[in-house]
Amino acid sequence: MNNGPSLKLVSASPPSATLTLASPLSGWAARLDEVPDPAFAQRLAGDGVVVDPTSTELRAPCDGVVVSVHASRHACTVRAETGAEILLHIGIDTVELRGEGFTAHVQPGQRVRAGDVLIGFDLDLLARKARSLQTVMLVVNAEGYTVTERVEGRSVSVGEPLFSVSGNASAPVTPEPAAESGATRQVRLLIAHGLHARPAAAFAQRARLHAGVVRVLCQGRTANGKSVSALMGLGATHGDLLTLQVEGDAAEHVAQELAEWVASGLGDPTSPVAEPVATAHGVKPMPVAVPVFQPGKELLLEGVVASPGSAVGRAVRVVDLPVDLPEQGQGVAREEQRLTEALTRVRRELEESMSGAPGSGGARVEIFRAHLALLEDPELTEAAGKEITSGRSAAWAWRTVMERQAAVLLGLEDARLAERAGDLHDLARRVVAVLTGEASSRVPSVLPPEAILIADELLPSELASLEPHRIAGICTARGGPTSHVAILAAGMGLPAVVAMGNQVLAIPEGAPLVLDGDRGEVRVFPTEETRESTRRAMVARAAHRRAHLATAHEDCRTADGVRIEVVANLGRPGEAVTARDKGAEGCGLLRTEFLFLERVRAPSEDEQLARYQEIADAMGGRHVVIRTLDVGGDKPLAYLPLPHEDNPVLGLRGVRVSLREPELLRTQLRAILRVRPAGVCRIMVPMVTTRAELRAVRAMVDAERQALGISTPVLLGAMVEVPAAAVLADQLAADADFLSIGTNDLTQYVLAVDRGNPHLAARLDGLHPGVLRLVAKTVEGARLRGRPVAVCGGVASEPRAAPLLIGLGVTELSATPAVVPDLKAFIRTLSLPRCEQVAREALKLESAEAVRALVSSTWPGL
Ligand code: PEP
Ligand code: MG
Repeated sequence: MNNGPSLKLVSASPPSATLTLASPLSGWAARLDEVPDPAFAQRLAGDGVVVDPTSTELRAPCDGVVVSVHASRHACTVRAETGAEILLHIGIDTVELRGEGFTAHVQPGQRVRAGDVLIGFDLDLLARKARSLQTVMLVVNAEGYTVTERVEGRSVSVGEPLFSVSGNASAPVTPEPAAESGATRQVRLLIAHGLHARPAAAFAQRARLHAGVVRVLCQGRTANGKSVSALMGLGATHGDLLTLQVEGDAAEHVAQELAEWVASGLGDPTSPVAEPVATAHGVKPMPVAVPVFQPGKELLLEGVVASPGSAVGRAVRVVDLPVDLPEQGQGVAREEQRLTEALTRVRRELEESMSGAPGSGGARVEIFRAHLALLEDPELTEAAGKEITSGRSAAWAWRTVMERQAAVLLGLEDARLAERAGDLHDLARRVVAVLTGEASSRVPSVLPPEAILIADELLPSELASLEPHRIAGICTARGGPTSHVAILAAGMGLPAVVAMGNQVLAIPEGAPLVLDGDRGEVRVFPTEETRESTRRAMVARAAHRRAHLATAHEDCRTADGVRIEVVANLGRPGEAVTARDKGAEGCGLLRTEFLFLERVRAPSEDEQLARYQEIADAMGGRHVVIRTLDVGGDKPLAYLPLPHEDNPVLGLRGVRVSLREPELLRTQLRAILRVRPAGVCRIMVPMVTTRAELRAVRAMVDAERQALGISTPVLLGAMVEVPAAAVLADQLAADADFLSIGTNDLTQYVLAVDRGNPHLAARLDGLHPGVLRLVAKTVEGARLRGRPVAVCGGVASEPRAAPLLIGLGVTELSATPAVVPDLKAFIRTLSLPRCEQVAREALKLESAEAVRALVSSTWPGL
């Protein structure tokens, strides 16, 4: 960065009061120059003394208020009554330990007296792992202060005077800015350990050279850019988007220089943000500096489609409410009792929400049920109990245990499990809210009309507790298309875009937005024309929907009379009613995992029977295809230990697990066979690769049917998800009564694109000609044996895929319930010869984009 003429040194305020600071530790006091870190040695962070500790507790050097405690618990700042801000930083480069070996005894905002314990630390561990144990104590707002009477070059005891500070309120002098000269930049923080002391000092030092105001905003918090402690107090971590606001002379120039300085890492090593934005057209790296949002300038942000539909509205930011939790408990018995009472109360609330949610959709009830199971998980309650026994408060204990568990899930690098971490955060929040009396929802209770919620991640209970008519849509920085929130949003009919990256968090409160849930796009400060055209499209769409719903209950045939069955994919019991109401002609895929995941033991045969029967009854006699358990690999079960796999997606999953655990499969088969009327349920086997696997399952079905004395035949089908199964479909069809193509998995295996990898999400397109050719091959093989072929993967829910699939010979589409009426209406406009012709052309194309373009040009308006 070049220090242009605009950067001036700011004058200091005159000193007027003296404060003596006590040594926070026992040890050897030395000059700052001896610290092996230039930021401290050169006094970039401030002036003071360093102590090489022999004691294990960092104590307050004076009376004051804790301004910040670093997330890694290795440093904190205390503001003395004189206004001096004292940074206490244990060891050098200890931020890299990420909290290991440190225990914080205070939290921001807490008042402390000289001598109070701030942070405890494990001296042995630090001696082994840290670069140096040297602990610095500095005045970070040093402009207004002079450090005197330093004790250096001798041993000191904790509490003994270490140095004195003379001076007065020392906020950096910031001349009144020229009103017209403001500038803003946004820049992503790429420093691996976030904005810790050293880079904060480096930033502040540059910022102080500017005579005008420098502010740094992050996650809804604002800091004076010239204050090291304020910058550290932002808690900015790797990947966070910082907004820099500069006022005064040459503000543009200074803002640009500061943004470049941040982007370069402020002298610390940087690492790229491992979260590129997947777009509909490919993968875009997360921009380091994004343009500023401002009225009159329409900006397009892209993310991942989670729930279809459009919305025109205004941004309502869902930001974390600070919850100050005391770490110290008030006695083990008292804290245990408080936790028990809070858990009981939340359990009661959840049960009430479940019973009081008739017609509100099965997904909501299922999520509450999953939360209940977590509340009753003995491992979590025992872990919280242990924290309480070691002196922690109930709230601190519960939050710590839940966050630890969520971190474990996130660390598993499994997209589905990572999405479940949101449930743990949610539950942590609910229980802590009861314990502290704080509001449990971050969503404002009064929402403006057409609110579009903007959140880092929305918690399932936050969404489930909202009435759908109060919000217009949802955008989140994180999350995934299969998260509970995405499922809920789809069930509530709310358009949602997820995985948008931190850029979305910089959208100003109240900014007008247009959200396109079909394309995964959000336009910020859209033009009047964009808004109006979206509103017109929404009105037209609603009118079409109503018209389509009116005919949704009739059989579906193409315009030239070819029968195409449109059935529904179900993942939760309550969805069956919705599916039937939307005109689904049956269920083409019941994902039974909902019964098996997030619990401590497998459901019994009777429990399974009750749930399957409930669904069959709701479908009113229409057929229900029940898929046998599809776990393992990316969906592990706690009670079903499987060996560690380096590549679980290519490992033990689907039928491979079922044949390894035959009792689990037999129990499920019996439950399916016992559903009445006999034969209404069909059985479908996931992840079949060979004919032998299907034969083994058929032998078990026959044996159980015989044992149960059931004479009615039960249809058994195979899912085609593995490329080999598509290529050998003629062989599989000899043993299968029907085939159903799972395009989600088939696409991931054909294109070698992990379906859980957010970096490649945009490439996972089931309309790729490579996938379509395998659909054609499957139909060709099945026809040789006279077997029907269905598609139950995600593309079956896309109207633009329908002509291709029908043209390739697919006769059943199993879609998400909400799209059934539109899908049926569109199919009624198609003719088979035209579909066949376009499908033949599509097979010759080279990319999914080319296939989509072909469909769009043939059926404009799709
Ligand atoms: C598929 O893979 O397309 C499918 C329907 O199964 P799931 O998405 O449950 O893996
Ligand atoms: Mg699958």
